[in-house]
Parts: sequence; structure tokens; C-alpha cells
Amino acid sequence: MHGLMMDMPLLIPSLIRHGAQCHGSVEIVSQTVEGPIHRYTYADAYARIRRLANALEAIGVGRGDRVATLAWNGYRHFELYYGISGIGAVCHTVNPRLFEDQIAYIINHAADRFIFLDLTFVPLLEELRDRIPSVEGFIVMTDEAHMPETSLPNAVCYETLLDDQPAEYAWPLLDERTASALCYTSGTTGNPKGVLYSHRSTVIHSLGILISSIAMRSTDTVLPVVPMFHVQSWGVPHAAPVVGAKLVFAGPHTDGETLQRLFADEQVTMSLGVPTIWLGLLDYLRASGKRIDSLRMFLSGGAAPPLSMIEAYENDYGVDVNHGWGMTETSPVAAAGIDRKVLEPLAHDARLREKLKQGQVLFGVEMKIVDDDGNRLPHDGAATGELLVRGPWVTSGYFDDDEANAVAFDAEGWFRTGDVCAIDPTGHMMITDRIKDLIKSGGEWISSIDLENTAMGHPDVAEAAAIAMPHPKWTERPMLVVVPRDGAALTRDDVLAYLDGKIVKWWMPDDVVFTDELPHTATGKVSKRRLRERYADHVLPSVNETP
Ligand code: AMP
Repeated sequence: MHGLMMDMPLLIPSLIRHGAQCHGSVEIVSQTVEGPIHRYTYADAYARIRRLANALEAIGVGRGDRVATLAWNGYRHFELYYGISGIGAVCHTVNPRLFEDQIAYIINHAADRFIFLDLTFVPLLEELRDRIPSVEGFIVMTDEAHMPETSLPNAVCYETLLDDQPAEYAWPLLDERTASALCYTSGTTGNPKGVLYSHRSTVIHSLGILISSIAMRSTDTVLPVVPMFHVQSWGVPHAAPVVGAKLVFAGPHTDGETLQRLFADEQVTMSLGVPTIWLGLLDYLRASGKRIDSLRMFLSGGAAPPLSMIEAYENDYGVDVNHGWGMTETSPVAAAGIDRKVLEPLAHDARLREKLKQGQVLFGVEMKIVDDDGNRLPHDGAATGELLVRGPWVTSGYFDDDEANAVAFDAEGWFRTGDVCAIDPTGHMMITDRIKDLIKSGGEWISSIDLENTAMGHPDVAEAAAIAMPHPKWTERPMLVVVPRDGAALTRDDVLAYLDGKIVKWWMPDDVVFTDELPHTATGKVSKRRLRERYADHVLPSVNETP
């Protein structure tokens, strides 16, 4: 027997409609690519989003079409989130930090029909345009005064596109499972994998974070440093209008000086970003003597922050540091913050140490940890095993990628995260290791396997393994362990010179060390765990060069 309640679909435009109706005068402030600060309100944004929806239909975007963005955090990108998804198309946010081949790959894999780009990315797309044949038109996210001379075919100015459109638009009553957005994440090897969000998953994820311990409130001013091209800026652009929090976008800037200035000028109370951002801001604050007194809390996620960073923000700047865990595949937030009931009885230092845990699982997400044979392990805070998750905002399969899907789930359909963790009896998780063979530097992935394969192209390299080494600024940096061929006189500089130009610059190993033999597992794979143990005391030269 069904209940007798209305079957209204959960659709993304409802989030901004509510924001405009109930919080219409609340501001969205953007540091623009062109230079000046731009301000308008949720009501203004909603009017422009409806004009954008009309414009998208006018240029022929239809249901299910993929429309890419190559853009920083800003109000036009915010409009595209809602406009593209709202008409039933798919907003594919392209990560500009991927290297060119990968950008071309994901645009082709997604078969994007249009690309909306910030001025910054005009040269990049001019270079790529012959390799992305599905793209019919490029819309430059600026006004006529700033339109560049460009060889991009069918280049249109964003503001001109919106100019003649009416601000009335009737949102289609889509099936709530309709795809809304697409975000690619790096694989351990080979090509990036697409995670395809739906209206339903996005709306429920918004509600999930709004009832979690990291919830934003109507009195908050939120600056998501985390980019809108990466996992939907951790859900902020969709959740903020629901409670009417003021939004501040930093555009292309994520340096400490810009962040401190925006925090102070806009009286930011809450922010979100990876540890590298917080470490950079901390350096700036210490060097300049400036303060961030309006900030009540930030969320650090994507990588594990050091205790010293949490201590500095809490003790010296009065900021409540919250730690969160998630993945592109989990929309992303799946665990965040420590339950106040757990924190409050603790002494100050113990409280800060507790904050090293990745956070309490959010209502809506289920977690289990398993041993090597897939048997469940207890949530006792001590047992560690691979973390698997399921829930309404967890992926059920990568977009058009049978190979990746064949290994991503267990027999019961839970998603394998590749992270190893313990879960305590109150649902707080603590990551202890990683099974997946990736290195995370400054919040972005480096494929160790791709790095190794490239290095093994050197005629004097017999075997090579890349491992993550701790780094105070980037959290992790790659180190290459090389077994030279018999009799070869190979040096660190030879290897680095060989890699130069074959990999993107920020993938370049911070160190190359030589060994006679790499440790192997029973199945003949290099044991990265044993290798990390072997080099546990090794310090990267770049660590001492970091201020
Ligand atoms: P991404 O899909 O790029 O957002 O990366 C997700 C992965 O980042 C996770 O599977 C973890 O390996 C790592 N990660 C995310 N949050 C944290 C965290 N708070 N601490 C440590 N690692 C994290």
C-alpha cells in the first residue's frame, strides 16, 4: 500500500527558487576574472538563471545534452549550475588542472556540445579545439567589453547570450533521477572516470550537509575555496540558497592574501577547502600579522591535515576546525565534524586530537569496513579495513565505463572507496591508509602507475615505483624509487630530465632514490605499503626548502 503523499520530484531549480523567494536580498559576491568585485542578490541570480535557461534552449541545448564549464568560482558559474541542470541538460564541470590530453579525453568522453569558459581558458581551448569535435560552440563567460580576439569557432559572449532573453521560464517537471551534472575523477591508471549526479542525489546531498554538524546557517557568509570544477564545490552552491547563507566566490585566487582580504571585507564566517589552502593561509597570516576574526569555522577535506595546523587555527585564531571526508563518487560529503557530545567532555588538547578523525558519518550514508576476504569488521575504533559506502548520493556506476565499474563495487553493491579506516562506536571514521595507487598533492591526484610507466620508458630503468611522501605544504608529494638496469650509472637528474616534458610539471617527483630491489606482494605487485615503511624516515629535499 502506498502512502497518499504528493509525488513531487526533488529537482535542483527548487533550491534556488526557494533562495530567491525567502532570501532574495542576500548577496552573492564574486572576485571576477576581469578584476573587479561583482555583487548581486539571490533574486538577481534567479532572474538571470531563468534567462540563461531560455538562452540554452535558444542555442539548441536539449535534455540529456552535456554542456561543459571550464571556469573558476564565480556568479556566472553559479548560474550555469542551475541553468544547465534545470532545463534537463548535464553540467559537466571540467577540471583545468588536468593535463591537456586528459581534458581532451573527458570532453570527448562526455561528448560535450557546448563549452562555457572563463577568459583564462581561451588559449587552452584554442589549442584543443581540433581535438574536441563534438563541441559546436564556445561561450566566453564575460561581457562584450572584455571579449577577446579568438580563433574559437562560434565564440559567443555570455552576457550577449543572456541579453535578449526573458526572465520568465517554466522549469520542466523532470524525473528526479534525471542526470544533472558530471564530474571526472582520476583513475589509478588510464583515463579519468565520470561520476554522473542526478537532481535527486544533489537535493538530498544538500539536505544531508545542512543537517550535519558542518551545517551552514542563514546568518553565515560562506566562502567555498574548493573549486566549482571539483565535486560541485562540496555542495555549497546548492545548499547555501536553501538556508539563505551569503556566498563569496574568490574567482581564480586561492592564495592567503586574497582569502584574508575577502574574509575581512565580506565578514566571512565559514569556509571550505583542502589542507594545502589552510596551510598557505596560515603562512600568510603569520607573516603579515593579519587576522581572520570573522571566521567561526572551516571544513578541511580531501586530504588529512596535520595536528599542528588544527592547533594553530584553534589556539591562535579561534577558528573551529572541522574535518570531513568524501569523494567525487560520494557527491562528495559522506562524513564530517565531530559530534559535540563526544567533544565537549574532553580536555582542550584531547579535543583537538579528536578532530584528526575524518568525521562522523552523515545521516543518509552507510559505511562498512571489511577485511581482505570481504568480511565485515567491528566499528570499535580499533579494527581497520577497506571502507565501503552506500547511500542515495553515492555513485551506482561510472559514466560509460564498464572497465572501472567491474571492480568498483562489492557483491552487495556497496562502493569500494580504496581508503582504509577504523570506525568508532559513534560513527566517527579515521583513515589509516589507502589501497588505491594514487598520490594526492594539494588536493589533486597524481597517478603513481602513470608516473612509474613513464619512468620505465627510460632505457636504464629496470623497475620504478612512485610513492606518496608527507609534505608540509602539499600534504603529499611523489617520490620515485628506481631499480637501475645492471651496470647503468643512472642519476637522480637523469631520471628527472627524462620525465621533463613527458608528464605535467606538478607531477614531477620531488625526489628519486635508487635501490637494488623493490618489495613485492605474493601476486607479484610492488608492495607500496612495505615501500612506504622502508622510506618512512626519508625526508624529501623540498620539505626543507618549504618556508
Ligand atoms: P576526490 O574524489 O578527488 O575528492 O578524492 C577522494 C579521496 O580523497 C578519498 O578517497 C580519500 O583518499 C581522500 N580524502 C578525502 N578526504 C580526506 C580526508 N579528510 N583525509 C584524508 N584523505 C581524504
